[in-house]
Amino acid sequence: MSLYRKYRPQTFEDVVGQEHVARTLRNALTAEPPRVAHAYLFTGPRGIGKTTNARLLAKCLNCSQGPTPTPCNQCDFCVRVAKNQPVMDLTEIDAASNTGVDNIREAIIDKVGMAPAEGRYRIYIIDEVHMLSNNAFNALLKTLEEPPAHAIFVLATTDSHKVPATITSRCQRFDFRRVTPPDIAKRLQYVASSEGMVLHADAAKLIARHADGALRDALTLLEQVSAFSGDEIGGPDVRLVLGGVPQELLFGMMDSVSAGDTRGALQFVENAVDEGASFGQLARDLTSYARDLLLQTVGFPLPADLSNEEHAAREHHAAAMGRAKLEGFLTLLRESEKEMRQSTDHRLLLELCLVRACEGHFTVASTQPAAQPQAPSAPRASWRDKMGIATPAATNPAPTPPTISAPTPVETPVAVPTPPPTRVEAVHIPAPTEEEAALEAEAVSMEEPEETHVEETVYAEVETPVAVQPVEEVPAEVVPVESYAPTEPERQDEPEVEVIPVPVQKPKKQGRRISNFDELIELWPAVLRRVRNKISIPAASYLVDATPLEFTNEQVVLQFSKEFHHAKATDALGRMPFEDVINTTLDKPRRLKFVLAAPEKKVEVVIEEEPEEEEDGLDSENNSDLVGYAQSVFGADIVGRSG
Ligand SMILES: [Zn+2]
Repeated sequence: MSLYRKYRPQTFEDVVGQEHVARTLRNALTAEPPRVAHAYLFTGPRGIGKTTNARLLAKCLNCSQGPTPTPCNQCDFCVRVAKNQPVMDLTEIDAASNTGVDNIREAIIDKVGMAPAEGRYRIYIIDEVHMLSNNAFNALLKTLEEPPAHAIFVLATTDSHKVPATITSRCQRFDFRRVTPPDIAKRLQYVASSEGMVLHADAAKLIARHADGALRDALTLLEQVSAFSGDEIGGPDVRLVLGGVPQELLFGMMDSVSAGDTRGALQFVENAVDEGASFGQLARDLTSYARDLLLQTVGFPLPADLSNEEHAAREHHAAAMGRAKLEGFLTLLRESEKEMRQSTDHRLLLELCLVRACEGHFTVASTQPAAQPQAPSAPRASWRDKMGIATPAATNPAPTPPTISAPTPVETPVAVPTPPPTRVEAVHIPAPTEEEAALEAEAVSMEEPEETHVEETVYAEVETPVAVQPVEEVPAEVVPVESYAPTEPERQDEPEVEVIPVPVQKPKKQGRRISNFDELIELWPAVLRRVRNKISIPAASYLVDATPLEFTNEQVVLQFSKEFHHAKATDALGRMPFEDVINTTLDKPRRLKFVLAAPEKKVEVVIEEEPEEEEDGLDSENNSDLVGYAQSVFGADIVGRSG
């Protein structure tokens, strides 16, 4: 027997998520005399318990102890209903397959006059009642207008608006709700433990969310997953069965989109292939996540069942994207999903969607007003025009960016982690050595083209405001991919970070390389940028989850909070010169270690053994301002982690 059948509630107390219905029915049945209607209409999405409650109501009415709100579950009627066996006085009709008037006549009209065989009532449950033909409805209506005293109808439907008003007006109506994920998860845990299974919390959560409010689907899924993974079910099992997308991947993609990091976003698509995710699922999951974020930007509270990490990520992403951009992104996603139905090239569609989103081309969106009156400052518009970049829905009217002084240029570049230009030219460039110039050229060439240009273009306008800017200002969109880290301090500061700290710190930084832990923390974002530019965006994306843990004369230890990132980074160690690149920002070479934080024991990985190795020009003393240099090249936002 399926879990859904097996654990179908047999009393109102067992009903999950429809307490309002259960309570009303219970009260009516408890009344003296019981208030029993002749027709009930149960409406709501599929799989949430309409038929279950209809059968429960039937038991309450026809139980040998009834009418009662607490059927005995022992009398013949109760037992047969519970076991799903045919019962004389209970008729269930699936209107989806019995749409015609003849069906209704045969099953109901012709017999409704007959007295109940055993119980008090003759109960008719008509499922999917909206499927009935007009003639069938008319025939039914006649019966509903003058029902025999012993006849009770329970009409269930997912589409109540398709049921004629003449019918609904004769029914007592109950609106069933989607069951909330926490309620579903709780029920799943109950069922699992009754079945002797171990269901991990993350697995329960995943199933619950996937079920979208339908308890029946959740239990079906649980059954499916347990068939696959045995008696112990973890999140990865669920994902495998669902073809689901690891959360880290979703978060990474949203990081990329919010930072306008096209290459990063596409890299995550590539990673998704390794994870075995389907692109359709990926698009759906992104849609669902973006929708959650959108709700958040208009003030909906976050779901209660989030982990701290998820909580942080959502707040970060909602702020980083902003309402308008989310709207545009959602529209793009929806278009893609639509097209996916008619095409087999799901990957290409998803990639196109991401590229457009990263680059702010939300044109598909009919919702998008052509002009963006929002752009506050002239400069902003101008650089966009120059770049031919569509103005991203950018400015978030959302709660986040309130204090902003008008002309924050920073706010503009959705895609750009850019404020740095200022610094570059102002501070640094005065007397670039040839070597530096060469380096700069090199580094710059590694950047995505837009960024480079933007920096140059923006420079002049940016400078002033930057210097002045109070920390709060910067709107979310500016946050570069790399800077996302799940830790609180960071996520809170992030949006603001870019601009402000820069000017202040610049002078300080100049001519010095990281020589202690505090500096490492302080300059970590810049180091990340260096990794991005010197190695690759994916390389940096692996490190986004890392935070410096230790800094000694011999080594630098980075701690990862997520297994996913830790594994990716560790895996990349052999191929990518993380250590070399990071050493170029330090006062002297050190070994690099990755460890995984958290519940598990720390796993240590020694990255590379030869600490002494070469230095590239950057390390030599005459280029001592590496960090400043790096910052300026990378985007210069030095984020004070500590806030
Ligand atoms: Zn009974």
